[in-house]
Amino acid sequence: MKELICKECGYVGHSIKITKGSIGMELLLWLVFLIPGLFYSIWRITSRYNGCPQCRSESMIPILSPVGQKLVAEQSRSDITPSTTPPVKKINTEVRDLASSYINKMTPKRR
Ligand SMILES: [Zn+2]
Repeated sequence: MKELICKECGYVGHSIKITKGSIGMELLLWLVFLIPGLFYSIWRITSRYNGCPQCRSESMIPILSPVGQKLVAEQSRSDITPSTTPPVKKINTEVRDLASSYINKMTPKRR
């Protein structure tokens, strides 16, 4: 069996059969109103899908597909560097230092 990856939460593994709605609602509809109960049962059966066991998302794709491979690569990259300071922050402080030195030069001296 092929392994799948979830596009929503990154779960890697196999999908499970997920049925929408609840059995309690189904029973209630059957007991109180017969016809809606029937429709609710049909809807639950027809809307069954293979989904992620972690977040119930329908968007699980084969891990061997190009998009799946991309997701795996992104995940492993974020695992390696989780808490390094982004380079943008460093540049920002450099710009700030430069700006303050310019401002110091530009401000006219008091007479
Ligand atoms: Zn998921």
